[in-house]
Amino acid sequence: MVKPVTNTPSDPNAWLTYWPDGAIVLDENGRILAICEHAQAILGWRPEQLIGQMAHDRICISTRRLHHAPEDCPICRDADSTTVKSSFWLSAEGDYVSVDYRTARLPLAADGHFVVRFHRNEQQDYSFAELQKFADFVDKNPAAIVEFDEFGQMLFCNPAMQHLMMTHGFDDQGHARIMPRDINEICAQIVASQNLRAPVEVAVDDFWFNWHFSPLVSPVGQSVIGYVFDVSDVKRAQAQASVARAQARRDFYAKMIHELRTPLNAIVGYSDLLLCRNAENLKDRDLKALRGIKVGGMQLNELISDTLDISKIEAGKMTTEITLFRPQDVLDEIHEQMHYLAEMKKLRYEVHCPPEFTVASDVHKVRQILINLISNAVKYTRKGQVSVVVQPLDVEPPMEDCAEEFLIEVADTGMGIPADQLDTLFDSYQRVKESNTQGIQGTGLGLALVNDVVEILGGEISVASEYGAGSRFSVRLPTQSSVLD
Ligand code: ADP
Repeated sequence: MVKPVTNTPSDPNAWLTYWPDGAIVLDENGRILAICEHAQAILGWRPEQLIGQMAHDRICISTRRLHHAPEDCPICRDADSTTVKSSFWLSAEGDYVSVDYRTARLPLAADGHFVVRFHRNEQQDYSFAELQKFADFVDKNPAAIVEFDEFGQMLFCNPAMQHLMMTHGFDDQGHARIMPRDINEICAQIVASQNLRAPVEVAVDDFWFNWHFSPLVSPVGQSVIGYVFDVSDVKRAQAQASVARAQARRDFYAKMIHELRTPLNAIVGYSDLLLCRNAENLKDRDLKALRGIKVGGMQLNELISDTLDISKIEAGKMTTEITLFRPQDVLDEIHEQMHYLAEMKKLRYEVHCPPEFTVASDVHKVRQILINLISNAVKYTRKGQVSVVVQPLDVEPPMEDCAEEFLIEVADTGMGIPADQLDTLFDSYQRVKESNTQGIQGTGLGLALVNDVVEILGGEISVASEYGAGSRFSVRLPTQSSVLD
């Protein structure tokens, strides 16, 4: 026999004593007046903890999604409902208890008082336990998980996400710095397309985060789930590995170049020695062959230097060494090589340069520009001439010895370049279409290197060409006398 809550015969709630299921009596405002023993057993509350309290405050759960104001509390809103409703109520231990309930007015009671009759829904309890298990997967997950609505507003985030947001802070607009700036557009697009999105990378200071997004459709609406992975360690390791790889490659090139240069220098040096000492004893044909060996060796040397410089530029390791020099001296230095190449193809080779004018620049790079442009001019010209002009560009003759800006111009009467291929001419590994170069071999690296070197020296390069008639490459270079002060 269940004992009555209040054991006075005049008690209007005495019937609660015999009630076979859970029952709670509320006044018209939803304040708890009485609770039967079954209800106490189901919910774990003692009468003194509930009586006088609002049902909405004590037992109703008002989650963010199902949030309602006290006056809209589903337990109290409808005092006389025949429909059975299902819900979760809060137990004294803080757990959610699943219940089916309905309300009815009390005929003998004071105005507005009503009873909420309920029983535990075991099936729903089981489903809820399952749900709770999955909720734990999210809550205890070390990966940050966040749910957005279709406008990019955050609906929920797990503790790992809260930790990330607190660690990396917020911008002036209150936007978490680890979130993609365009989160609203991302969410709108995912909800509209219902498709997964390619991961989005967000960099904050020295950290990187990979965001993966997927659409979620549930009975309460559509949303977007974001999973955030801190990939900073991977990124740093990749960066270190790529620096180490680049260094290993540079070391390898440096060794290779040393190995290649030693025999090459011997070839160039000995052929030079023979030319100087033995020129008068050699037949013209042998002299020509010897010069061919020497120039071939010199060209190979240039090619090796260019390859090394390209890898230096790609690694951002290219430096400049500014000195004062006369361009004429550089032209003299490369004359034998360039003149020989032109002579082999029976081309006229002309050079114009005021002999005394000096510039402050990187002599190795200026040499590289000249050699590449002149060798190309010779290579892509079958007949006619190659002319080279190096001159100061100062409008007023400079007061000091050193020119402010100078011009290198290499013109030829060769095959020219089709107009539609001029735009990509300075891109690495780009060659004019085979059909337009009459089968002449090349790597497509020379002009890309020249372009980079000109940029490093703070200059500009341009080309004017008429297909079938010839080309003119112009380089304007500032001289950098201030560096010498
Ligand atoms: P490569 O000559 O080794 O192919 P470059 O980078 O030096 O590489 O030149 C790129 C392309 O530009 C060449 O393949 C050639 O088609 C074109 N080119 C360069 N210079 C000339 C020139 N003076 N006349 C005609 N075409 C040229």
